[in-house]
Amino acid sequence: MKVAIIDKKQCVACGCCVNICPKNAIAMFKGKYAVVDEELCVGCGKCSEICPASVINMEVVKND
Ligand code: SF4
Ligand code: SF4
Repeated sequence: MKVAIIDKKQCVACGCCVNICPKNAIAMFKGKYAVVDEELCVGCGKCSEICPASVINMEVVKND
């Protein structure tokens, strides 16, 4: 499956991804950038689609 990977250095901390994630898998870190909880992310890609800075990439990860 895929998970969302955020380039925190490029994130502008708008919060759009936090609000749209259906799994509440994204949180803001100290108001500076967004971080994904890979345990909660189901790879839907909605955050990646909405990010105005285009800094969320969907990357394939292996399942155990
Ligand atoms: S891919 Fe979907 S589930 Fe994963 S962090 Fe983005 S919006 Fe949330
Ligand atoms: S939508 Fe993009 S720029 Fe906005 S907080 Fe999320 S990762 Fe950062």
